[in-house]
Amino acid sequence: MQLPEYAIEAKGLVKTYAATKTTPQMHALRGIDLAIPRGSIFGLLGPNGAGKSTFINILAGLCRKTSGQVKIWDRDIDERPRDARAAIGVVPQEISADPFFTPRESLEVAAGMYAVPAKERRTMELLNALGLGDKAGAYVRQLSGGMKRRLMVAKAMVHNPPVLILDEPTAGVDVELRKQLWNYVLELNRKGVTIVLTTHYLEEAQELCDQIAIINRGQVVACEPTTTLLRRMDTRQVLVTPEEPMTEAPALAGFETRLLPSGGFSVTYRTGQSTVEQVLAAIRAAGLHIKDISTEDPDLEDVFVSLTYAAAPEAVDI
Ligand code: ADP
Repeated sequence: MQLPEYAIEAKGLVKTYAATKTTPQMHALRGIDLAIPRGSIFGLLGPNGAGKSTFINILAGLCRKTSGQVKIWDRDIDERPRDARAAIGVVPQEISADPFFTPRESLEVAAGMYAVPAKERRTMELLNALGLGDKAGAYVRQLSGGMKRRLMVAKAMVHNPPVLILDEPTAGVDVELRKQLWNYVLELNRKGVTIVLTTHYLEEAQELCDQIAIINRGQVVACEPTTTLLRRMDTRQVLVTPEEPMTEAPALAGFETRLLPSGGFSVTYRTGQSTVEQVLAAIRAAGLHIKDISTEDPDLEDVFVSLTYAAAPEAVDI
């Protein structure tokens, strides 16, 4: 059987939540086009309310789309909803584990729901992989928050889906556990599982994801390989404190300058085009004396902010 080029494909995906007595109509997704390559670790980034959970809930079959087309592993969610759902495992944001089950029972129940035959179940293998082997018989209520979170990952994998979706997987998880969780996720990815994650931790996305889509107000504002996105950020800033505080930013040939509240100014330049040396030369050529100077590197946060601001529609949501 030929494997699909994309693990997930969405075309013109729209979701509008109907108005209720207390809430107005909400345009949560306004025409999302996304193609998530098979085998990738794909990051879905966006501020609160951007539409990430709505997108994931549609994939998981928990929320009905208003219009548009979605395929999971080449299976249209309208035409083959069961097959489409069988191709993904979803780790939800909220921890929801039955307190009266042991992890072993919890996985058995989940496998039962996916109709995984007993001899194909991998309960202990999954528990061991997630560092829960010695907790197989403990009550879930006795597990720590991090352990419960790992149990959720194990539950999402009981039917061995080719795509794993993690919704804010490391929110509230301490550094050590986060590493453990990521090691397992990376291991799954090495074995061929496509990983889709939403995160607020830009650093995490930057480190782990090979492709990142930025969503804002229900629209995709960027979707690029992480390296391309980072290359967009070849701008650097030089922050200058002049001998005499200034009241307006100086004009420097070839550079963008901005006045700082301190009376200093910033100079923005592109590393591919200019050097700090050239910036300094331009400052001196303008007859300015420098008292102090520092440089600032941008990170994904800067791109994120500039993209999401640029894309904010002026119209109010009604
Ligand atoms: P994110 O996961 O990126 O924070 P969501 O998908 O949760 O974003 O929300 C997108 C928008 O849809 C928000 O404006 C949110 O208030 C709205 N929304 C989400 N769920 C519902 C719902 N069940 N009913 C009405 N509006 C909703």
